[in-house]
Amino acid sequence: MKRTLRLLCLEDDEEDFMIINFTLEKSGLLTQTKRVETKAGFITALNEFDPDVILSDHALPKFSSTEALQLCLAHARQIPFILVTGAVSDEFAANCMKLGADDYILKSNMNRLPSAIQNALKHKETEKARQEAMSSLATRNEELLKINSELDSFVYNVSHNLRAPLMSVLGLLNLAKQERDPEHLHKYHAHMEKSICKLDETLREILDYSRNARQVLKIETINFKRLISETLDNLRFMNGFDKLEVRVSIDDRSPFHSDYYRMSVILNNLVSNAIKYRDHTKDRSFFDIMITFDEKMGSLVFKDNGIGIDSKLTPRIFEMFFRANTTREGSGLGLYIVKEAIEKLNGTIELDSAIGVGTTFMLEIPNHAPAAIQETTLPAPPM
Ligand code: ADP
Repeated sequence: MKRTLRLLCLEDDEEDFMIINFTLEKSGLLTQTKRVETKAGFITALNEFDPDVILSDHALPKFSSTEALQLCLAHARQIPFILVTGAVSDEFAANCMKLGADDYILKSNMNRLPSAIQNALKHKETEKARQEAMSSLATRNEELLKINSELDSFVYNVSHNLRAPLMSVLGLLNLAKQERDPEHLHKYHAHMEKSICKLDETLREILDYSRNARQVLKIETINFKRLISETLDNLRFMNGFDKLEVRVSIDDRSPFHSDYYRMSVILNNLVSNAIKYRDHTKDRSFFDIMITFDEKMGSLVFKDNGIGIDSKLTPRIFEMFFRANTTREGSGLGLYIVKEAIEKLNGTIELDSAIGVGTTFMLEIPNHAPAAIQETTLPAPPM
């Protein structure tokens, strides 16, 4: 169906306006025209009449086409601007085009007006598409630069985190080759085991990072009791696990749907941190998991009475490889992966922490629609 074009005419001569209307009518273009002759009228019509094209006479008693063109160029929408005027010099016409007018029509040759309107509209549309493409290219470029610099830092840190335990195992092996004392050998083996566990932990984190970035969301019903019990079961051999009292409360008012894998990555990192950053000076170490949700949102609170985090460092706590404490082993990837996984679920995470008191992480995660297809990303690498 043909669309009615709204044409705003800046014209002080009623007769010329009539000729414009006759010409358009004859051409078969569906138009609605509005005539204004003052600056105030022009500005009001720009916003209220919301024109598709502007036709402007050049010399009006109190307003000029150059001024109108400037107002038009400053407008958020890119509205084609065509000068419709009596005789003008070539120099004047060229200057108007240079300033941003789309075309100019001589009143003595109005036949060209319909095609000039259509060409100007087409040209503006192409220009708009070009600018959108340029802006999305610029955004992509910025994203790529960020990814590139993250990748550099990732490769540097990961290779360090992989090489350090490997070098340690190699050193211990060399020592062990020359060692006859079983007690010493036992000690070396224990250290080797620790380094290998560290290596395994780093590899697990890299896989979690990669899977989270690439794997398509798979929404299913989350059974929190099962999720928590599986997480605790996976961590039961972690040093200090038996020293942490885990208390769970779940208030479920409707089924909760989310991505099981990402939820388990989040839980695994937060629980293992609560174990790792226990305060050894306290008689009891606890970790409270409080979960409530309704059909829209899930609220998950994880509260420990561990060593806490220095408030100056909390703004950087979710950065890749950032570590606020080097007295315990770690890579600084855990909370970064947690934040990335939560972002994939369109959720948020905040924390409240005080040195010597403990840390509380507060998560808000939307209850997804059960069968929603969330996104398509690159296929996950084989695990
Ligand atoms: P990692 O534990 O490998 O260092 P994370 O990304 O999991 O890395 O955590 C980043 C930093 O945040 C840790 O180095 C630690 O200082 C701090 N942190 C995380 N969780 C806790 C917690 N529950 N209690 C105290 N500090 C924590």
